[in-house]
Amino acid sequence: MSLDILIIGGGLAGLTSAIDLSQKGLNVVLLEKNEFPRHKVCGEYVSNEVLPYLHSLGFDPFDFGAKKIDTFLLSSKTGTQITSNLPLGGFSMSRYTLDTALAEKAKDAGVIILYETVSAVTFDKDRFQITTKNGSNYLAKMVIGAYGKRSNLDKHLNRQFIKTNSAYLAVKAHYKGDLPDNIVALHNFKGGYCGLSKVENDRINACYIVDYKSFKKHKNIDDFQQKVLCQNPLLKTFFDNAAMVSEKPLTISQISFSNKRLIEDHVLMCGDSAGMIHPLCGNGMSMAIQSAQLVSSLLYAFFSQKINSRTELELAYQKAWNQEFRDRLRTGRLLARLFRLDHFSELLLSGLNLIPNALPRIIEKTHGKPLVIA
Ligand SMILES: Cc1cc2nc3c(=O)[nH]c(=O)nc-3n(C[C@H](O)[C@H](O)[C@H](O)COP(=O)(O)OP(=O)(O)OC[C@H]3O[C@@H](n4cnc5c(N)ncnc54)[C@H](O)[C@@H]3O)c2cc1C
Repeated sequence: MSLDILIIGGGLAGLTSAIDLSQKGLNVVLLEKNEFPRHKVCGEYVSNEVLPYLHSLGFDPFDFGAKKIDTFLLSSKTGTQITSNLPLGGFSMSRYTLDTALAEKAKDAGVIILYETVSAVTFDKDRFQITTKNGSNYLAKMVIGAYGKRSNLDKHLNRQFIKTNSAYLAVKAHYKGDLPDNIVALHNFKGGYCGLSKVENDRINACYIVDYKSFKKHKNIDDFQQKVLCQNPLLKTFFDNAAMVSEKPLTISQISFSNKRLIEDHVLMCGDSAGMIHPLCGNGMSMAIQSAQLVSSLLYAFFSQKINSRTELELAYQKAWNQEFRDRLRTGRLLARLFRLDHFSELLLSGLNLIPNALPRIIEKTHGKPLVIA
């Protein structure tokens, strides 16, 4: 039997598109390599631009204890700080809870979730054959690639970005400590920055991204945090007084922000598989959810014969995706490059203290508008 839609990956892009398409009456199978619940390296702050869309799918993060965030605190390496209202605001919620709740919602909507790692996708005679590591095979009319920033599949699809090593790694853990509920903080340190925000159950998520060169000079995570992160007095106060509640910190490496092709051998890429914005911008999760909305509405138009061919569908997706995300990704890359310069955060903070309205403007450049629901 051939499926309408097979989705590879059950993160935010995969799960929201699965819910949307299934609620629209299409048959959807989602293949995810890890069972829920699971923790994920992420800053866990989601911009409110996707709230209207999540509500339209019948999902409210505040039912699961998400914290409302309306203030952004930025500090330089030496601890100079500035706060700003967030133009749209957002919410903070662990990926452990968010992804699991969305997976439940997807199952309720009729999505079949199977825990399998996809190892190959081939396209022939207008349909896909999808093969998994344990040897299962599926046939589908359409495939959404929502398998995140880096996967075995990128090698299989011979994607260009996977051929270059990336300089970044990231570390995340949950803590009990002091942080107002409504703040998302971004603290710079030499070689990287650390985001802090409160999630459900009054836990604080601390997640930092750092270039590998700075990290490898130190013997372990504790040593690195003590000697490098804690040079920023605000991070020192946090780490000296907070107690880690995660079993151990989670780490990931090889985080790439390179350009990617949106469509590979007719697979429609979505979320980080299509392109990853620098986490500095706090917009990757919104972009994943928003790209899920884009691809779902176009696929629905295709299956209801308002779009007449695969070529028309692919062109429409490419156009809509570029309109929404291309500039945000460019600004994100530029900001990331600037923040890597030694004295940039210090200079920026001095400038922002003189022109306080500039910070919300910069934030707007890396975010979208609230999604309009048709
Ligand atoms: C350090 C860091 C901090 C961040 N902080 C923030 C933040 O505060 N705010 C924000 O908005 N964004 C943040 N982001 C970005 C955000 O995490 C991503 O943009 C978002 O998770 C993308 O969602 P996705 O669905 O595309 O991918 P993911 O959420 O990564 O989901 C991909 C899924 O695919 C599965 N998968 C992979 N390969 C296969 C396979 N072969 N077969 C089956 N399944 C597969 C994976 O197991 C995973 O569940 C951060 C990212 C990093 C690295």
